[in-house]
Amino acid sequence: MSRLPSPRADLGLREGYHSAQVDVAVRLNTNESPFPPPASWLDELAAALAEVPWSRYPDRAATGLREAIAASHGVRSDQVFAANGSNEVLQAICLAYGGAGRKALTFEPTYALHGHVAHLTGTPVVSEERDPGLRLGAARVTAAFERHDPAIGFLCSPNNPTGLVDPPEVLDAALATTSGLVVLDEAYGQFAERSSVPLVADDLPLVVVRTFSKTWALAGLRLGYAIAAAPVVGSLERVSLPYHLDAFKQLAGRLALGHEAEMAERVAAMVSERERLLDRLGRMPVTLWPSQANFVLVRPETRSGTEVWKGLVERSVLVRDTSSWPGLEGCLRVTVGTPEEDDRFLAALAEVLG
Ligand code: PMP
Repeated sequence: MSRLPSPRADLGLREGYHSAQVDVAVRLNTNESPFPPPASWLDELAAALAEVPWSRYPDRAATGLREAIAASHGVRSDQVFAANGSNEVLQAICLAYGGAGRKALTFEPTYALHGHVAHLTGTPVVSEERDPGLRLGAARVTAAFERHDPAIGFLCSPNNPTGLVDPPEVLDAALATTSGLVVLDEAYGQFAERSSVPLVADDLPLVVVRTFSKTWALAGLRLGYAIAAAPVVGSLERVSLPYHLDAFKQLAGRLALGHEAEMAERVAAMVSERERLLDRLGRMPVTLWPSQANFVLVRPETRSGTEVWKGLVERSVLVRDTSSWPGLEGCLRVTVGTPEEDDRFLAALAEVLG
């Protein structure tokens, strides 16, 4: 008989959020940048590593990194909270503002980690559906915030996995109705035409979450941050472990911010490649949504999503099978890759769809 104790009962059979890791030639399943970060950044980082006092704990406040992030957004550094990926930012938000009896609200379909992390932190999750067509409108947001009165209301724009951007009235409606915190996940913010970071103010219950994983081509670094009112940042720091951001990450992130122009070039290339991909897909028997992110949502009309997903894997192309997610029957999410990768995907898809 096993002597191992049971984990928390409320974890149940809940599975983690993981995309299949299959060995294929073309990986378009996790919305990473198809380009490596700039070589000049890597050279700078390698040189700077020799100066790091490795025997010492890192700067607990991550001062240099937060100042650099603040400068890039035109905010103060006490309005910046940085963590190990934006997922950890989301976790800190739930630890500080969620918990038993304090609800988190999501609008489905959206990024699965919002509900998942809330649940892991003991925060009850209430979910509302988006409007037909997967869009979100102000009336629905107002009604949902009034009905549930959440401690944390999650918005995501551009939304993962649809790529759709919410109209500004959605955030306005949430902020006008909430008695808690409104968390706007802008993981894909730089691919879109508009950001809500400029709205952040010390008297507004708004947290905008960003990441280095997509536009900065640094998913391997695990660095994300929130821009929020200074007292909110203070609360997020209180639930973080001491020295949670290591010296390497602080340095690498700070140096990356010196390469804004190269980042903007990469973003522009991905945005124009996204438009080419949408144009080519538009000539196939699929339903599409107008994405402002670095991925597109596709619903094949002639075969089931899972059949198409398998057919693509057989042709060494991996995309995200979202067909079993609520509201996304038959859909696949495809990350924008290099033109060569996308051509391989398009050719494979044309074959699978016959
Ligand atoms: N938010 C959204 C909407 C995402 O799609 C992702 C990545 N899939 C994240 C946050 C997490 O990004 P990271 O932890 O790599 O910063």
